[in-house]
Amino acid sequence: MLRVRFAPSPTGYLHIGGARTCLFNWLYARKMGGKFILRIEDTDLARSKKEYLDEILNSVKWLGMDWDELYYQSQRFDIYKEYAQKLIDSGKACQKDGAVFFKYDFTSVKFNDLIRGEVIFNELPKEEEVIVKSDGSPTYNFCCVIDDALLEINCVIRGEDHISNTPKQLLMYQALGLSIPDFAHVPLILSPDGGRLSKRHGATAISEYRALGYLPEALANYLMLLSWSPGDNREIISLNEARGIFDIKNVNKTGAAFNLDKLKWINAGYIKTKSPKDLEDLAYEYLTGKNFLPAGTSKEYVGKVAFLLRERVATLGDILDSGRFCFYDDYAYAEDTAPILAKNMAKEINALGEKLTAMSDFGVAAIEKEFRAVCEAAGIKAKELVHPVRVALCGRRNGPGLFETMEVLGKDAVIKRLERLTQYWGSVTK
Ligand code: GLU
Repeated sequence: MLRVRFAPSPTGYLHIGGARTCLFNWLYARKMGGKFILRIEDTDLARSKKEYLDEILNSVKWLGMDWDELYYQSQRFDIYKEYAQKLIDSGKACQKDGAVFFKYDFTSVKFNDLIRGEVIFNELPKEEEVIVKSDGSPTYNFCCVIDDALLEINCVIRGEDHISNTPKQLLMYQALGLSIPDFAHVPLILSPDGGRLSKRHGATAISEYRALGYLPEALANYLMLLSWSPGDNREIISLNEARGIFDIKNVNKTGAAFNLDKLKWINAGYIKTKSPKDLEDLAYEYLTGKNFLPAGTSKEYVGKVAFLLRERVATLGDILDSGRFCFYDDYAYAEDTAPILAKNMAKEINALGEKLTAMSDFGVAAIEKEFRAVCEAAGIKAKELVHPVRVALCGRRNGPGLFETMEVLGKDAVIKRLERLTQYWGSVTK
């Protein structure tokens, strides 16, 4: 049975590269009917933090993955100690100043990588490396090998940045007489300019994307496509579908560049296709979490707003800006509305206000009918009134469909906002 593991160190948040490695492990385990193991590499007691651990576990779950077994290296120090003793007893390691050192005796080392093919390391120096520090904490290349062997991991899928550790680990397997797993080193996620992806290119932690209002299924979908493809130029694929077809051997060797626009496009696509109810739940949870909603805002109202804006937002976070007018009416009219505001249409707006006030069914169709009647009576084209009314309702030139917006805002808010615009005209013409 296939046993794979994701082995994050809780010395930082789960970043997009780690999350993609985790996804590949999880997908492969699920595809093969194997086990997905989460191993927390928290041997560095000083740098490991509970805050990071919680974030990693939450982010893995949030992205839609589950694990079959969970281990903490900090709880396995006795095991590493025992193996260090074995190495000392067999003369392969020595103790100096309270620390234990292992001597890598390189000649030539090679292994067959499932993604990259044969990888050969020639003429590596004879190097000594500490495997247990003087404070008793074991180091990465040592415990990684012991755990991969004892947890019966038979395929190690990890970032390409660990290729350089692999020859050392192979020698460690040999020294300890443990059986060697398969390896698959996945290419790194690159910055848009082809370099190393860093903070400078934007958010790197999964929790940051969550805070920005990305949906987990969209982020998982996007990350999967970095260095893997389901074929047929497909770009939208769920974890559920991917777990049916994923094969680690089909991951590309070359690094893929992170493209925020593409991620946004995918996220926007997922938002657009949510059911009104799901959208309501998501938006309400998100906006509540941001402490954004005025006291007393109903969940139902948030749902209507989110549905109104669904074609215009790429993330839930976009609602904070482009949807603010739905929750607050203290906005100033945007500067670029000046040409629209230059024409005083108080008469028509007042007429519209009167008609709307008299309405009992404040639905889109009825609103549109009254609106057109007012324009006709005034002898103007509908669009002449659409622009100032939109400015009145949203403070901006652009926004979602005007009649839909009116329905969502509700009669009282619409009337109030129309009055505000006529007052504005009154004040500038005085
Ligand atoms: N703790 C290591 C890391 O986070 C794990 C590397 C590995 O998968 O072997 O990079």
